[in-house]
Amino acid sequence: MAPPSTIVSSNNTLLPGSDSFSNRKYSPTLKSAVSSENEISQLSELLSSTKLFTTMDDNVDPIALNWKSESSDYKKRGPVVCNFYKNGECKHNAVGAHSGCYSVYHALAVASKQLDPNFTPNFANSEPQFSVPYNKSWTDGESIVSIDPFGHLAIPENYEEYGDVDIRPSIAITKAVLQLPDIEQMVARGDLKVDGKIVLNEQGDVAISKIAVDPVWYLPGIAKRFEITEEELRLSLFKDTNNMYPELITRPDIKTFLPPIGGSTVYIFGDPDYLSDPTKDLALRVHDSCTGSDVFASNICTCRPYLIFGMQEAIKQAQQPNGVGMCVYFQKEGRALGEITKYLVYNARKKYGDTADKYFYRTECIAGVRDMRFQNLMPDILKWLGVQRINKMLSMSNMKFDAIVEAGIKIEERIPIPDYMVPGDSNVEIDAKVHSGYFTTGNVKTEEELKKTTGNDWK
Ligand SMILES: [Zn+2]
Repeated sequence: MAPPSTIVSSNNTLLPGSDSFSNRKYSPTLKSAVSSENEISQLSELLSSTKLFTTMDDNVDPIALNWKSESSDYKKRGPVVCNFYKNGECKHNAVGAHSGCYSVYHALAVASKQLDPNFTPNFANSEPQFSVPYNKSWTDGESIVSIDPFGHLAIPENYEEYGDVDIRPSIAITKAVLQLPDIEQMVARGDLKVDGKIVLNEQGDVAISKIAVDPVWYLPGIAKRFEITEEELRLSLFKDTNNMYPELITRPDIKTFLPPIGGSTVYIFGDPDYLSDPTKDLALRVHDSCTGSDVFASNICTCRPYLIFGMQEAIKQAQQPNGVGMCVYFQKEGRALGEITKYLVYNARKKYGDTADKYFYRTECIAGVRDMRFQNLMPDILKWLGVQRINKMLSMSNMKFDAIVEAGIKIEERIPIPDYMVPGDSNVEIDAKVHSGYFTTGNVKTEEELKKTTGNDWK
């Protein structure tokens, strides 16, 4: 199969990468950006040997990928292939790159000649350390649209019939032991007991099973979840990434996109088999990353304390005869607005006088919205794990609650962070969130009362 050669934009003008690019007249701007004819010629040579993207034509032969296959047989669904390396140029069936935001580091390793782009991984002995049983939501085409349900089985050995294409896992399943000073203190205080199975010893070592998951988006399903058309979604992804992924436009036949964003990690306390059993009790914390608090214990928000509380309750639940606990950690720093925006908001909050009534307003001024986490994709991981019933939900977020319930998962009890765990400077956040609709068992403050909840002024 010859590689696709027609490279045109949607309005049929030739783009860099086409055979004609080397003969193009450069604009005055580009001419001034390159210092010599030699540089222009090197650039032209590079671009003429590189296919920037493909269009739908007779030359392409993507591997079939049936998101809705209604079968537990991963071979019937087909593998996700997005690399152009090896035979991927003709056969790829996904836009984007593996490993989310880390794909750029892969590019650096290749560019600096430290990694052969055609390197063939040896996946021997790296297989999942426990099984996640198939359930129908994996292949109904709608329940799971933001991860690849068969991502843990995506190794070349499982798809030898497709020949020399780069197939890589987007899910990895392993085990670990956690050593947290907070857990050690809970054991010392008697808040957690040593059972030798989950809490292993007096030092508070905790045995866990864990799963790392990279995002894999099924575009028709994502569009449906956001109640927009697939075309609107494709165009927005294309434009908003400054045209990084032309095939979002030129290959409407390709329905899968591996976005350059962070993934998630599942931490399971107790028997993973219990997760899909509705007769077992599950305590769940769904947590969005906050490096400043989670890792460095900044006192301006409740993230780390709530995560620690979530782990404590998950462990306690798992120590019950029919219990299991889980924390799902999503890489969505600063409400998915990023740390830069977050710190700018901190500055504005402190400069204006930090009060709860203006908590969300300060974010909206800088980011245009108060939150970009879009929890409606979050339940996919729960559906994948087969979760049907949550006994204790360690979260106050109405957005998370609504998304999980909407996905058909029952939540029996919601448990707010205990008052004694709320750091001094984060009452502004908690009061504002509760006022906006976050769950509480306490009082909801009025607009007037929010003005009186103030944070530290850094002086
Ligand atoms: Zn935080």
